[in-house]
Amino acid sequence: MTDNAKEPQPSITGKAGDYRLCQVCNRNLPISELHGKCIDCGRWICGSCSTVCSACKKVLCKECANISEKDGTVREFCKLHKPKSGGCFIATAAYGTPFAEEINVLRYWRDECLRKNRFGRMFIGCYYTGSPLLAYIISKSSILRSFTRLMLKPIVKLIKRATGEKRDLGND
Ligand SMILES: [Zn+2]
Ligand SMILES: [Zn+2]
Ligand SMILES: [Zn+2]
Repeated sequence: MTDNAKEPQPSITGKAGDYRLCQVCNRNLPISELHGKCIDCGRWICGSCSTVCSACKKVLCKECANISEKDGTVREFCKLHKPKSGGCFIATAAYGTPFAEEINVLRYWRDECLRKNRFGRMFIGCYYTGSPLLAYIISKSSILRSFTRLMLKPIVKLIKRATGEKRDLGND
């Protein structure tokens, strides 16, 4: 058993003028700009790297946040409250089910590659703003559905090839 009693717990309420490192963006910031520790990865996070879980209202970093969309509203969740089918709306509309193998590939790409860098997160943000409407339009037309599947095919293939070694979806 480990006992950390001797080590003083870091406190967010430090003296004014204290600095602490945001472990997500690696900036050394005045303690007042830090929002606490991410409940999922335990790193210290500053205001611009943090968000709150829509379910438990706890602070977590943007890299751990699970984005979900419901009725046109994008919300973020911690690991514990992550909704089961945090999905790709366009692909779900195109394949008619959130459980297609292609969607697993796209979802893996989003979680493991896109979310890990700033540009990827920007892309996800734009995507989640525009896609619920687009997905709705696609789901209403069988021509658009097959067209979208056709468009997604090479993308899925590419991601599969790029992430193939690391990806383990299990074969059921
Ligand atoms: Zn930061
Ligand atoms: Zn985190
Ligand atoms: Zn939560």
